[in-house]
Amino acid sequence: MRSGLIDKRNLTEFQGWTLEEGAIVAPDGWEKLEELLKVGDVPHAAFALRRLLEAELAEACLALAAHVRYREQGRYDSGELLEGVTARFGDILRKARAAAETWSRQSIVQQIDARLAVFQDARAVLNQQLWIVNPTVHYNPGHDVHSNDLRPVVEATRNLLNSLRCAKPGCDSILAVVGGNDEQMLKCKCGEVGWTLEKRKGQAAAAS
Ligand SMILES: [Zn+2]
Repeated sequence: MRSGLIDKRNLTEFQGWTLEEGAIVAPDGWEKLEELLKVGDVPHAAFALRRLLEAELAEACLALAAHVRYREQGRYDSGELLEGVTARFGDILRKARAAAETWSRQSIVQQIDARLAVFQDARAVLNQQLWIVNPTVHYNPGHDVHSNDLRPVVEATRNLLNSLRCAKPGCDSILAVVGGNDEQMLKCKCGEVGWTLEKRKGQAAAAS
């Protein structure tokens, strides 16, 4: 499964949580988060958000073969995961773009440019917003955050995660690098995205 496509249904997702015990497994994390925001339970909502972000970034790490420092017992920091995944995704998109140019596939270049723009925008917004989550998770009397403060972070998180996925309804898979060390393609599960990462022979030196 290392270099193949990741089946979202086979991966652990989080719902039901306590601050002490951590997340409990189930498929309706985003809906649960919305419920917590509606009742104004900001600490648990922030915790849920962090867990969802970490779970999806872990999935993206696998799909993209991103480089993240190994941590024992999966104790990854969301900022570290975010940096590893987004750095890798940007690199791979640029690699796919450069390859498409050598094949003169202008429509693919345009698709990649559009995705890059959405992704970079989402990444910048989330990087600005993410600071709000961590002090909110832990009790902090000087850090008074309401549901409405958290909603933009939730939106930024979803936008960033969506920018890693196929937009076709029913697919929704995180784009995955396939081909092992050779990194042949970036593709989704439905086939809507299937961008080669390999430059046309003889063009490799010309287009970097
Ligand atoms: Zn797809």
